[in-house]
Amino acid sequence: MISHNQQLFERAQKHIPGGVNSPVRAFKSVGGTPCFFVAGSGAHVTDADGKSYVDYVGSWGPLILGHAHPGVLAAVQEATRKGLSFGAPTESEVDMAELLCESLPSLEMVRLVSSGTEATMSAIRLARGHTGRDLLIKFEGCYHGHSDSLLVKAGSGMLTLGNPSSAGVPADLARHTLVLDYNDTAGLEAAFAEHGAQIAALIVEPVAGNMNLVMPRPEFLQAMRKLCSEHGAVLIFDEVMTGFRVGAGCAQGLYGITPDLTTLGKVIGGGLPVGAFGGRREIMAQVAPLGPVYQAGTLSGNPVAVAAGLATLKCVRAAGFYEQLTQRTRQLTDGLRAAAARNGVPFSAQAVGGMFGLYFRPECPQSYAEVMSCDQQAFNRFFHGMLDAGHYFAPAAFEAGFVSAAHAEADIAATVAAAEAVFKAW
Ligand code: PMP
Repeated sequence: MISHNQQLFERAQKHIPGGVNSPVRAFKSVGGTPCFFVAGSGAHVTDADGKSYVDYVGSWGPLILGHAHPGVLAAVQEATRKGLSFGAPTESEVDMAELLCESLPSLEMVRLVSSGTEATMSAIRLARGHTGRDLLIKFEGCYHGHSDSLLVKAGSGMLTLGNPSSAGVPADLARHTLVLDYNDTAGLEAAFAEHGAQIAALIVEPVAGNMNLVMPRPEFLQAMRKLCSEHGAVLIFDEVMTGFRVGAGCAQGLYGITPDLTTLGKVIGGGLPVGAFGGRREIMAQVAPLGPVYQAGTLSGNPVAVAAGLATLKCVRAAGFYEQLTQRTRQLTDGLRAAAARNGVPFSAQAVGGMFGLYFRPECPQSYAEVMSCDQQAFNRFFHGMLDAGHYFAPAAFEAGFVSAAHAEADIAATVAAAEAVFKAW
């Protein structure tokens, strides 16, 4: 009998490209039918066939409090009663700007947008407008959303589909994006030595989460800070994924680096569309209407979305929040590593805050090339074994995973036990 998920997927494919509104949802690399979710509560989601899963995707990062958190729902319901959108300023946007600037010392001013893509695209335009230069540095395997300049050797769905550069990006534009190796400090120094005077901006995921999880070497981040300052280039930390996910001070707080601009998304919207870019006042003052760099949005700072974000940020600011989240996430990675070791499966795993990476190779990767050496077939086997057992991991080998504050010790223990069974039958 054809399942409800299959029925929906067949219907979806008739009128939606690939049946999905974002490519990695399609299960293209792992195979099989995507789960159509009908509800979520805490750490659990339920699909159209009524099967429930412990969820390690969390809407790809925003749901740091889990699904349908009562405080977030109440804030959203309260906001909806007052109207959905005004296209005029509201107090909650001011509250959000104040809260973000208070949380990150590198932010003096911030502009709200509706997605991570808009945040990074706008930050790059701003950096180019501010410096009067065109050249952009990014790193292979880092994903910064789907704007033209950034779809060059990108990560996430681009890697999953095996085509890290998109069709439809004008060669004239791609020419302005220089792609370097993540964690390669010597390569970075060489690029600045050769092109320093032309570089408008360097954009980086300070912890890379779109080629699975790759931790930065601290000296790599330090070198980019130094080189950008020396050459007058704008250092952009893309913290769309890491922002309020790896710690209260984001990745820049963990590594003690002050970027010139920061982009945020995911957690700051708590599951509704909010993104932000912000940084040094001198640079942000170039944004319209103060300055000549144009940027706008009909729904920017939407009061319902901002209410969800503010309610989420209020919870993550509670004392001990990140300690507990870190501990829970480590329970998962430690448990999976031990289960794999007991069964002789080459596997490694690591976590930072509520974010984790699982790798079918003996050591955690430190470079794009090492990520690419992971056994993708093994991941696919693991993914489907876990899915069958009711544990929903990202349906692609090159994604980071997420644990929320709603994941109980028992949820993680159940996942580890299921993994043990999968590894046993390996
Ligand atoms: N930057 C990073 C680091 C991301 O992880 C993502 C999304 N996964 C984006 C930018 C793009 O954000 P969005 O999907 O909200 O446009």
